[in-house]
Amino acid sequence: MSKNIYSGACQCGSLKFHFSTALAPADWRVRRCTCSFCRQHPKHIHVSDPEGSVRYEFLHKERVSRFRFGTKTADFITCNHCGSYIGAVMLHENGNFAVLNVEHLSADLRLPTPPEVSFDGEDLEQRLARRNSGWTPVEGEV
Ligand SMILES: [Zn+2]
Ligand SMILES: [Zn+2]
Repeated sequence: MSKNIYSGACQCGSLKFHFSTALAPADWRVRRCTCSFCRQHPKHIHVSDPEGSVRYEFLHKERVSRFRFGTKTADFITCNHCGSYIGAVMLHENGNFAVLNVEHLSADLRLPTPPEVSFDGEDLEQRLARRNSGWTPVEGEV
């Protein structure tokens, strides 16, 4: 199947990403995270595709704000100019993997309704294994 590219950005357009996936938007694996960080962005919609890829394009690098939880396993990226959350990136020895917030895509797509998910009971090993198998490989720099 050929891949399509879906572009998204923070609200002010400074921090962009380009998501490449063969999945039709109606089949995207969407979910809404209930952790203490993501709850501050209640309209976020997380999407990832381990068969796809994502490339970031930061037009204003100084607007990139990274938040790291105590477990230090992922950076949650927000724009410090407009406050938008664009997703989280896991920095791993095998490369970087991302979950994207597709709340602000440049195209108006019909997405499934995201179920709420909680990963509170996970230990660190389970968390890394899940992200490794489910998140989107990042091409280039984050
Ligand atoms: Zn912004
Ligand atoms: Zn979360």
